[in-house]
Amino acid sequence: MVKVILNDKIIDRSEAAIDIEDRGYQFGDGVYEVIRVYDGVLFTGDEHLERFYSSADKIKITVPFQKEELLELMNQLIQVNDVHDGSIYMQLTRGASPRNHVFPSADTKPVLTAYTKEVARPVESLENGVAAMVADDIRWLRCDIKSLNLLPNLLAKQAATEQGCYEAILHRNGLVTEGSASNAYIVVDGKIKTHPATNLILNGITRQVVARLCKENNIPFSEEAFTLEELRNADEIFVTSTTSEVMPVVKLDEREIGNGKPGQVTRKLQTLFVEEFESAKQAYSL
Ligand SMILES: *Cc1c(COP(=O)(O)O)cnc(C)c1O
Repeated sequence: MVKVILNDKIIDRSEAAIDIEDRGYQFGDGVYEVIRVYDGVLFTGDEHLERFYSSADKIKITVPFQKEELLELMNQLIQVNDVHDGSIYMQLTRGASPRNHVFPSADTKPVLTAYTKEVARPVESLENGVAAMVADDIRWLRCDIKSLNLLPNLLAKQAATEQGCYEAILHRNGLVTEGSASNAYIVVDGKIKTHPATNLILNGITRQVVARLCKENNIPFSEEAFTLEELRNADEIFVTSTTSEVMPVVKLDEREIGNGKPGQVTRKLQTLFVEEFESAKQAYSL
């Protein structure tokens, strides 16, 4: 029987019940994280938990656990569900209370849920690249919070899917922010550009890993917003996320990027990224 986390307990999925007045269900009043599991080991778990606490703090929810406890709980769930290559999804809501926009009384307990799933690395797409489309960024002005409210992201992703695209790359007034569920980058003359980590994007953990790998390997990396025109004329485009890793975009709005194959800089980053999670795995098992 597959297990899930409900607050501080690991229970059968079929036994996990959420109140219909849970504020996550009614308002999307909560935050979440998706963490990758490679060979049964959490990758960048600390960084994700750090962001989880930070997202919760920004919407004034107190996480009712110490970070170490939470990490321990997640690791236990991975073990009992025997996850090999997959992910763990975790969310925290403001809890259940009679529907009212105003925050509930201080004794209302936040509700933590988490589940795991087995997902293979998207090797075929990583190898050949994917198509993307451009869409308006119609989100709010606190995209730095990994909030449960994802309607604009869902609409953009659905539009992309209907166009046969893997991702929608969003822009505000012609300046590219990020993907609907990923961070977006261009490569021009060997130099990488991506939107700075402001309130207009979610500062991806994968983005932070890529930034560090660039620094360590002398690959020029600039946190600088770029225009739609720069995007369309880029030598290379890629997007990153926990599940997509370093994903080459080889087609944008039906036009090929570069020669229609993943570019050199993107390839190099893919190699460095694989080395990174392989060595994180090794370090963990020591
Ligand atoms: C989660 C997310 C990302 C990617 O973040 P990772 O930590 O790399 O998975 C990028 N953009 C949005 C909007 C996201 O929700």
